[in-house]
Amino acid sequence: MMAVKRRSSHDVLLSTALENFYNAAEEMGLEDDLIEILSRSERRVCVSIPVEMDDGTVRVFDGYRVVHSSALGPAKGGIRFHPQVSLDETEALAFMMTWKCSLAGIPYGGGKGGVCCDPLELSLKEKERITRTFAARIEPFVGAWSDVPAPDVNTGPQEMVWFMDTISKIRGHLDPAVFTGKPVSLWGSKGRNAATGLGVATCALELLRVMGKDPKTATAAVQGFGNVGSFTAKFLHDAGVKVVAICDITGTYYCKDGIDVNKAMAHTQSNPKKLLEGYTQPGLEKRGPEEVLFLDVDVLLPCAMEGTLNKTNADKVKAKYIVEGANGPLTPEADEILKSKGIPIVPDFLANSGGVIGSYFEWCQNLAGFFWSEEEYNQRLVTIMKSNFQRVWEYSKEKNVLMRRAAFMVAIKRVADAVKMRGVFL
Ligand code: GLU
Repeated sequence: MMAVKRRSSHDVLLSTALENFYNAAEEMGLEDDLIEILSRSERRVCVSIPVEMDDGTVRVFDGYRVVHSSALGPAKGGIRFHPQVSLDETEALAFMMTWKCSLAGIPYGGGKGGVCCDPLELSLKEKERITRTFAARIEPFVGAWSDVPAPDVNTGPQEMVWFMDTISKIRGHLDPAVFTGKPVSLWGSKGRNAATGLGVATCALELLRVMGKDPKTATAAVQGFGNVGSFTAKFLHDAGVKVVAICDITGTYYCKDGIDVNKAMAHTQSNPKKLLEGYTQPGLEKRGPEEVLFLDVDVLLPCAMEGTLNKTNADKVKAKYIVEGANGPLTPEADEILKSKGIPIVPDFLANSGGVIGSYFEWCQNLAGFFWSEEEYNQRLVTIMKSNFQRVWEYSKEKNVLMRRAAFMVAIKRVADAVKMRGVFL
């Protein structure tokens, strides 16, 4: 067979994800036909979403649902609402979900969805109408054994209930296992809402451990204070790490004695836009939103959007370690710059896999109709995260590669073996 012709894209996230995949696949000596199969998505669904706005006008939004691979099981991955959503971005995120689920050791393939919209400009009713119309449009493609969506940027338990309710009404029966990330009162799991942050914090603590640093003397800066960033900060704080800065679009909130994370979380809960605006505590300094990235801390945790650290700002990073809470927070240029500074980086699809592992627990509970305690849920999650971190850490030492490459190699192997055993058909 001729050498594989590499796919590329104008979308930074997609081209980066593909490049990382091709490089790892080549280093492993993966067969060309497997590289060809795994570099493409199985299914890309694009829909229009006409919605009547509160003022009576009609706006049409674009929505996407991509399944990259179903080799290991039903596709799994969130649905985001954001103005940057595009087909290429969704495909990149679906692609990364395949490696995330594989690395996590759970029986899922990779998928992702999104609607291009700005939730900050939408009323609750408008969000509900977008969610339900999108659900109806993608209904033929989702299901507990085909493709199981979940929350992502700007979506949460409420949106998941609207999705589940719409699908259940179309199908004429309750179908709880078709969406994860639901509220505890409606077939959700105790622990799921905090699961991604618990996983990110566990990886950060594991990294400190292998680096020989006592968490009680460590400092951290968390960028982004949505679901992932806020719970990450909370669990680090609970473990004794001093979280000196948190941040959202309204600015960086810095306190050298440590942020009172529980108070900050309560503040965002009572803010109508769930923002930190107006948060205060003794000794607090407010700085620009980017400042959080350049603090002299042990661990920097970018937990917001992709491309946060890029060629324009990566050289200003002073943190000793980076744990990627968001999906794709480093551009390839930033990755190179930070590599040359010798900063260890825990890659996103390992660090933030607590969310999808937690979703797996919820799906199991839904299919069994039997729920676990929050304690059991968290214990199982932490055990899996620790052993996954350990596996990637050891593999990176054994192969003398960085953690991102090691994680790709472990993840690709499991999916490639599944494709080989199942054979090429459809
Ligand atoms: N949106 C999360 C992620 O990017 C969770 C996905 C899921 O639970 O399916 O991993």
